[in-house]
Amino acid sequence: MKDDAEYKEFYEGMVEKGLIIPTGVKGTFGRGKLFEEVVQCFNDLVTRIAENDNADVCFFPPVIDRKIMEKVHYLETFPHLCGSVHSFFGSERDARQLAEEAEKGGKWGDLLEQTDVVLSPAACYPVYPTLTGTVPADGRLVTVFNWVYRHEPSDEPTRLQSFRMREFIRIGTPEQVVPWRDMWLQRGLDILHSLKLPATSDVASDPFFGRGGKMRSISQRDQKFKFEVLIPVISTTEPTAVCSFNYHHNHFGTAFDIFTEDGQIAHTACMGFGMERVAMALFKTHGLDHSKWPAEVRDLLWPNT
Ligand code: ATP
Ligand code: ZN
Repeated sequence: MKDDAEYKEFYEGMVEKGLIIPTGVKGTFGRGKLFEEVVQCFNDLVTRIAENDNADVCFFPPVIDRKIMEKVHYLETFPHLCGSVHSFFGSERDARQLAEEAEKGGKWGDLLEQTDVVLSPAACYPVYPTLTGTVPADGRLVTVFNWVYRHEPSDEPTRLQSFRMREFIRIGTPEQVVPWRDMWLQRGLDILHSLKLPATSDVASDPFFGRGGKMRSISQRDQKFKFEVLIPVISTTEPTAVCSFNYHHNHFGTAFDIFTEDGQIAHTACMGFGMERVAMALFKTHGLDHSKWPAEVRDLLWPNT
């Protein structure tokens, strides 16, 4: 069971220390200087550890072509999480109506229309459409760091609507992709253990929508398509997933016509650290005062001090 009182105390402690800044909207808090520094230091540590993998480094905006969401059937599997960008396309008269509705706190969203973009629900999504065609014989490896949006408002400090993921994405044959995913599962655990975090791994599933979604989750677990690394942050009995390791089979390869050299549909896998969750796991485990963190942990996160 999650202990509301325990996570409220943790949340309030982080606010008091200026680590996070409440905004009044669930799951959208601001980040103070030290919280952000921990996120960046952890990101740098991951970069150092994966340096010799020579991943292609890409940066994308936090919005993606809405066709990506359509092509991967996101609205069939996760309609409850999606965030779509709408804007105003009307006349001056419509604009006056819009402003009046907004003024009185009415349903002004009804007067907007869909744009070409949606908020990216996972950092890896913009990568796949750039790979249409044939990948080289040894496949591709890409890394991204980006904001993502998921509509899951919650009072739990670890369940955000807007957060960041550091992801690595592997594209190639199943023989290239699956062992790579398994290598990262062990490496992810090793990184978190080196930071003295009580991390464990487990098979996992995505929160697919509806009754059909339950079947999808069961099948995903049975096939061991998803693993997570978990650390107790807001509950000792229900630890929080701080990173995930996903094998997508040929889902993205099919959606975006990505092929391997022998003409087969490419398979893909991704691994992603939830950056705010990693930072909160560090603050929960080692305390809100980072000057008192174990020396080994500080040396890894701040190697130049
Ligand atoms: P896929 O590409 O298959 O959609 P993914 O790796 O891109 O998967 P998830 O596995 O759903 O995405 O999430 C990756 C990580 O992001 C999780 O392990 C977790 O640490 C973090 N995360 C997920 N949801 C939230 C949330 N609501 N708030 C904060 N962090 C989250
Ligand atoms: Zn991903």
